[in-house]
Amino acid sequence: MLGRRLYSTAARYVTAARPTDGFVGAIGNTPLVRIGSLSRETGCEILGKAEFMNPGGSVKDRAALFVVEDAERRGLIRPGGTIVEGTAGNTGIGLAHVCRAKGYKCVIYMPDTQSREKMDLLRMLGADVRAVPAVAFDNPDNYNHQARRHAEALDNAAWTNQFDNPANRQAHIETTGPEIWAQTGGRVDGFTCATGTGGTLAGTTRFLKEASDGRVRAFAADPPGSVIYSYIRSGGRTMERGGSSITEGIGQGRITANLQPDIHLVDDALKIPDADTLRMLYRLLDEEGIYLGASSALNVVAAYEMAKALGPGKTVVTILADGAYRYQSRLFSRAWLESKGLADAIPAHLQKYVVL
Ligand code: PMP
Repeated sequence: MLGRRLYSTAARYVTAARPTDGFVGAIGNTPLVRIGSLSRETGCEILGKAEFMNPGGSVKDRAALFVVEDAERRGLIRPGGTIVEGTAGNTGIGLAHVCRAKGYKCVIYMPDTQSREKMDLLRMLGADVRAVPAVAFDNPDNYNHQARRHAEALDNAAWTNQFDNPANRQAHIETTGPEIWAQTGGRVDGFTCATGTGGTLAGTTRFLKEASDGRVRAFAADPPGSVIYSYIRSGGRTMERGGSSITEGIGQGRITANLQPDIHLVDDALKIPDADTLRMLYRLLDEEGIYLGASSALNVVAAYEMAKALGPGKTVVTILADGAYRYQSRLFSRAWLESKGLADAIPAHLQKYVVL
C-alpha cells in the first residue's frame, strides 16, 4: 500500500522527461521562472527562461550543439577531429562539453579580458584555451580571425563561426522559441534579450513572431558600448557605440549574419546602464534567491521596462543566460566594483552581498 501511495505522489509531482541521450540530450527544455516581485510591481507576468540550468550552465549550450551538428552534417568534421571557436566563454564551455561527449578536440580563442572562472573551467573541460589581446573585429588579430586561421591550418578541423553561422540562430528557432510558446500556452506578449552573436534574439524573435502572426512584440536589450540600440532606434541608419560595460558575453559592434535576416522584426531597443544591471542582479539574489550573471540581470531590467511600456496584464519573457558563478570574483568583490566606479550603485541594504 505504501508503494502505491508513494507512486501516486510521484505521478503528481514529477514532470521530468525520460532519460536523456547523454550530455547533449539534456540541453534545452529549461524551466520558465515567474519573477514574483517584479510581476507584482508591474501588474504583468515577468518570466525568465532559466538557461543557466542547461548542463553546461548557459544559453550557449543550445548554439554549441547546433553548430557542431551542422559541421557534422556538412561533412566538415569527421570522428577524432577538432572544433575551433572564438568565444567570450560560454559558447566555448558548451562546445568543450559537446566535444568531450562526441570525442572531438576543442580549441578556444578568447579575449584576455574575460573572467578567470570561465578560462579555468574551459581548461578543466579539456579545451586548449588561447587567451589573446582584445582587439576589434576589423583587426586581423581579433580572436575570431585567429580561430578561423587555426582551423584552416589543421586537417579534419571545423571553425564553427558562431557569430555568422546561421546554425546558431536555428537553435533558437527550433528550441528556445517553441519552448517559450509551449510553456506560456501561446500567451506571450513581449520578448526581450541582449545580443552577443544575436542568435538568441534573432532566432527566438523569428519563431515567436511567426507563431503569433506578428502579435508578440520584441525589444533588443543593449549594454553601453554596443551598436544594436542605435541601429534599431535609427531604423538601421546609425551604429553609435557610446561607452563601455561590465556585462560579459553581450554587446555587439556590427550586424552579424545571425542578426541580419531578422533584425527588422525587432520592434524597439532599450539601453540599460551598468548601475541598473548591477542593482537588479543584487535585488534578484535578495528577493528571489536567483544567482545570475550580469547579462541576465540586464535582460530582466529590460523585461521590467518592457512590461511597463506594454501595460498591466501582459506577459513578458526574457532569458536568464547564465549564473553568477562564472563572474563571482568580480561581481561580488568590493575592490573590483570600486575599480569600475560601481560600488555605490548597490543600495545599503544589499551591500551585505559584497562578500569578496
Ligand atoms: N549572455 C551571456 C552570458 C553570453 O555569454 C552570451 C553569448 N556570448 C549572451 C548572453 C548572448 O547570446 P547570443 O550569442 O545568442 O546573442
